[in-house]
Amino acid sequence: NLSDRLTETFRNLRGKGRLSEADIDGTIREIRRALLDADVAVPVVRTFTSNIRERALGAEVSGALNPGQQVVKIVNEELIGILGGETRAMRFSKTGPTVIMLAGLQGAGKTTLAGKLAHHLKQQGHTPLLVAADLQRPNAVTQLKVVGERAGVPVFAPEAGVTREDERPRGNPVKVAKKGLKEAEQRQHSVVIIDTAGRLGIDQELMRQAADIRKATEPDEVLFVIDAMIGQDAVATATAFQEGVDFTGVVLTKLDGDARGGAALSVAEVTGRPIMFASTGEKLDDFEVFHPDRMASRILDMGDILTLIEQAERTFDQAEAERMAEKVTKGEDFTLADFLSQMQQLKNMGSMKKMLTMLPGMGQVRDQIENFDERELVRTEAIIQSMTPLERDNPKVLNGSRRARIAKGSGMQVSDVNSLIKRFEQAQQMMRAMSRGGGMPGMPGMPG
Ligand code: GDP
Ligand code: MG
Repeated sequence: NLSDRLTETFRNLRGKGRLSEADIDGTIREIRRALLDADVAVPVVRTFTSNIRERALGAEVSGALNPGQQVVKIVNEELIGILGGETRAMRFSKTGPTVIMLAGLQGAGKTTLAGKLAHHLKQQGHTPLLVAADLQRPNAVTQLKVVGERAGVPVFAPEAGVTREDERPRGNPVKVAKKGLKEAEQRQHSVVIIDTAGRLGIDQELMRQAADIRKATEPDEVLFVIDAMIGQDAVATATAFQEGVDFTGVVLTKLDGDARGGAALSVAEVTGRPIMFASTGEKLDDFEVFHPDRMASRILDMGDILTLIEQAERTFDQAEAERMAEKVTKGEDFTLADFLSQMQQLKNMGSMKKMLTMLPGMGQVRDQIENFDERELVRTEAIIQSMTPLERDNPKVLNGSRRARIAKGSGMQVSDVNSLIKRFEQAQQMMRAMSRGGGMPGMPGMPG
């Protein structure tokens, strides 16, 4: 399966000190093969791997992560991006009942999902009504009634519809949906979930019926329900439903099975619609709100590796921050070497932007990270590296001729060297002020 394949690929990267272009290409090849085997659609694989390659080749120098770990991190971030990035919350109607319509092929898991969703919403204090607008299959209405009973939620169905289990219920699904909506308004249900019919394949009549139900009920959400095991057909099916009915969100079902995750990756990327829920079994509780980041780690099957990576990054920053704090408390002088290290830290933190945005009081650091110019770090590194150890520790000795020599050695202008020293002196003053003020844990503008 996809998880195993990717884990194996990453295992081969572990322990490598440096990745060559050949290493990266080899890894990308493996990732591509694993994704294709997992039925991820070809165009999606192409975008995904080329993004990863580009980022891996230009991978940031990090004091905390080895190159293999960086590739894992990049793959994870790209996966989350393809899966939609943020978790999308459900939209509720401000007036009257919220209408949720389910659409998808027969056997996708719509009726089962109707019960799960009703149960989930009921737990959140809503009062859902299920509407049986699938009048295609002989026992579709009965099935929804069973599901409703299990969830403890009423079901609206055509009255004289079902006579015998094996008989096709009579009635017009569009009318049933509209009547169900009216019923919900009268009885003040806060949510209406409309179950619709599906066929084994995509057909025009099915599409027209679903589109008609949509037009008649104006749902707040149209959820396209898709079996995660559907494989390469996922994209064609999703596209057909998007064109025929259009939908606002996707629900992946049967993720408990041997789901290879490929469908998930393809559908979200190709339709641009968020995956909102996942169904993971036949029981009412086998249901979850979909989180792209969790799905990504499920696909990569390396929650532990990711945790380790985060820890490594955090430890690195902390050790550095502590060293700085100690300098400040002891009143030691802030050197150019410290200045460089501080800039490198800022760069490392760029990759942790998301984590930082979750911490309170990080506004200033966030601005610094947003405005961080990587080329400036390269220039700063070049200039500082052209200095002698004496100059780095005692920037006061940097007279005109030394500055000219440094500019020449680093391929920069003297004005670049001057401006760097000026910025350094400002940072140094800040450190001194903090030192006099009894010290503050951490670097200027850095988390402690
Ligand atoms: P519908 O035709 O779209 O309404 O699909 P159903 O809700 O009738 O589901 C078709 C079959 O798939 C039923 O046997 C369900 O029990 C099963 N099913 C639905 N969702 C899941 C799921 O998440 N996991 C598993 N293992 N089975 C599911
Ligand atoms: Mg059904």
